[in-house]
Amino acid sequence: MTGVKAAAKRFLRSHGGPLGSIVRVRTDRPEFVLTYDDGPDPTETARILEVLRDHSCTATFFVLMTRARTSTSLLHEIRAAGHEIALHGPDHRPISRLGYTVVRERTSAARAELEDLAGVPVRWYRPPYGLQSLSSFRAVKASGLEPVLWGPTAWDSREATMEQRIARALRGAEKGAILLSHDSYAGYADGGRSDSPPSVDRRDLATRVLAAYRERGLHARSLADALTSGTPIKGIWFTR
Ligand SMILES: [Zn+2]
Repeated sequence: MTGVKAAAKRFLRSHGGPLGSIVRVRTDRPEFVLTYDDGPDPTETARILEVLRDHSCTATFFVLMTRARTSTSLLHEIRAAGHEIALHGPDHRPISRLGYTVVRERTSAARAELEDLAGVPVRWYRPPYGLQSLSSFRAVKASGLEPVLWGPTAWDSREATMEQRIARALRGAEKGAILLSHDSYAGYADGGRSDSPPSVDRRDLATRVLAAYRERGLHARSLADALTSGTPIKGIWFTR
């Protein structure tokens, strides 16, 4: 990417206006937003909940309906522990190349089903792979949801060493940053594009990421918790 193009992208991502997706939180508190995608996972989610409890942290879980339907009790555990439930989609198919009506209908239906299963209102949506078009963005908004993307990533959907994951997670570790991480892996059964889960101890990774952020004075909060004292920063994020 050329320097000019990269600079334009940075500018647009921090000045979203009405076409903006939430990419950060403006806050004075020493907090970052911790997010988990692709679960709930019958094994990993409960282990991660233990870590969050031990660190007195909260997080936002962007769940897949392919998982939520079969792990409904985990939704209740997430909620009971004070975390936030959000939607990652009916499945993990990218929506950026689907038509407006298809996206609006499948997202609205998934939102209604998730609210019913979890017993809480759902506000946020994260597009699988971070892929969204202008049309899919508008369809998600018409479903009553707000797209939420991210800044740093724990790099836990691919093979990497623990050191690489932590280094990557700390890139952009600052107040109000939204960190992308995963409590599961979306494979073919979820509509994912590949089916090779990385070998990663997700509980260990969560512990290390929280410790690394804490060393920088930053405490993990769910998006809802961070917004009790902060305001969303929106940026333009369209990638097909
Ligand atoms: Zn995902």
